[in-house]
Amino acid sequence: MLWQKESNKANALYADLFALSGGEARLKLMTRNLRAQTKPGQKPIKNDSISLQKRKEGNEHFGQSRWVDALELYNESICHAQPGSKNISLAYANRAACFLKMKRLDECLRDIELAKEAGYPAELMPKLDQRKIDCLKEIKEGRSRSEHFRTKLDFEPNEKFPCMANVVDIERDADGDYSVVAKADIDIGQTIVVEKVFLVYLFELKAQKCNICLKGYTNLIPCEKCAIAMFCSDKCRHNPLHDYECGLVYSTNSQLNGSLMNDVRGILLAINMFSTADELEEFVEETIKSNPTCLPDSLSNQKSQYEAFLKLPINESMISPDQMMCLTYEVYNQLLNMPKVDAFFRTKKLRRFLMHLVFYHIQILENNSVQGSVKLLSGMNQGRLVTCYNPTGLIEKYFRHSCAPNVVTAEGDGNHIFMTIRPIKKGDRLTFSCFMFLVESKDKRQKILWERRKMICSCTRCKGVAATSEERRQFLFDPDFQSIVLTKLPLDHSNTEQIQKVTDKCVNFLKKYDRTEWCDEIGAVVHIYIHLLLSNKPLTLPLSA
Ligand SMILES: [Zn+2]
Ligand SMILES: [Zn+2]
Ligand SMILES: [Zn+2]
Repeated sequence: MLWQKESNKANALYADLFALSGGEARLKLMTRNLRAQTKPGQKPIKNDSISLQKRKEGNEHFGQSRWVDALELYNESICHAQPGSKNISLAYANRAACFLKMKRLDECLRDIELAKEAGYPAELMPKLDQRKIDCLKEIKEGRSRSEHFRTKLDFEPNEKFPCMANVVDIERDADGDYSVVAKADIDIGQTIVVEKVFLVYLFELKAQKCNICLKGYTNLIPCEKCAIAMFCSDKCRHNPLHDYECGLVYSTNSQLNGSLMNDVRGILLAINMFSTADELEEFVEETIKSNPTCLPDSLSNQKSQYEAFLKLPINESMISPDQMMCLTYEVYNQLLNMPKVDAFFRTKKLRRFLMHLVFYHIQILENNSVQGSVKLLSGMNQGRLVTCYNPTGLIEKYFRHSCAPNVVTAEGDGNHIFMTIRPIKKGDRLTFSCFMFLVESKDKRQKILWERRKMICSCTRCKGVAATSEERRQFLFDPDFQSIVLTKLPLDHSNTEQIQKVTDKCVNFLKKYDRTEWCDEIGAVVHIYIHLLLSNKPLTLPLSA
């Protein structure tokens, strides 16, 4: 049905997918059921009394030295404040105090400026000036803790795929599939991929991260119109994506709303790359006609990334055909409700193309999005597991899955980050585990992989290759091993000394047994090592098994 035309004539239209699935009346009824499960979304409008309330709550947390919680509430206060209201400047000034306490001193200075630009009241100015003096003093004393999260490669970039290190390359295996192979020995704990995710939409924590690039714990500025979106910079604020979506809420259910709006954003992203819908159509048609297994020439610009996106693998559908069509119908209508999109796809022919494009995008996204489920490490919702965004990376498809991985993937500030978790030798294949099952049984792993990915794993661990019983006995007498496995997670993030100590032991152990095949003992150490590697960083692990 997908990409089928009405006839063989040169200028034939694409088939009407909605008519083919029983007509619009049927789809309307089905989508009504979909919507009936949740309340329709309400327009998130600015409201000064909410802004004031959030600032007060923030002050309470601040008084109890809970800086991150306070910061999150000040973000919400800024986001809800009406344009021109003094609530904005007051919340910026209070957020500056949080940053000062967190020793994020550059951010503190920037917030003081933002407070002034937003018209901070003259009578309170001495307080703000004092904050600036305190901050400058701390900077002079070298107390700044503005962290650089692992958003930099530990090597020079690969020429063709600049998001990847030059010590690895994509190669075609004997079975015709691609895999990523080491061109040199790579140490443990190295960052080998930092990819800006191609498509991402925030499900939750909307006031805590940049709406466009997901940067968090920074000087977020509000959308001038809605009470939802925050941006990390003017550049992100002027990105056209949110302009289209501003004020649009499909459902109050963050899961349903998030996955639908993520599909909407995917099409908006494509629209923004082309000046006309005809150009977009031509590009898509050329791409799907070309060999889908062909490696893209590069991933260095938006169009090459979109080409790679359109060629992402589509396996078996995770959702029923009816659900697929419902989603397509809803996304299609949401899009055409936007005047700019309505004008972009002006003819019947182009709208039929849009129908198919939406369907195709949804199929790709259903198969290739990694839900950024995070256990919140800090803030008001500490400990709660939330799906906060749906990032689609492009490079991941070239890495093979293995239940005995040597690489871990994580998300941080809108980047897809890959780090080595075992020493790697030249010629080794780099593999990651789709799910965090480092110590689970084969039955459990195979079940999860089949249920969620329709995949049967044939990695070395699943084939039964394992450390010998002699090797495993050796671990039990290894003092490093003994102390590592006694580590209780999660560790206290502020205790950097302890984190470093255990990390060093893990590294020592994993280097000593670098060629030992996987076994529960190796799995247990790798498990702890990964937690330490990502501790206290705004990184999120893939959905845990
Ligand atoms: Zn941003
Ligand atoms: Zn907005
Ligand atoms: Zn396996």
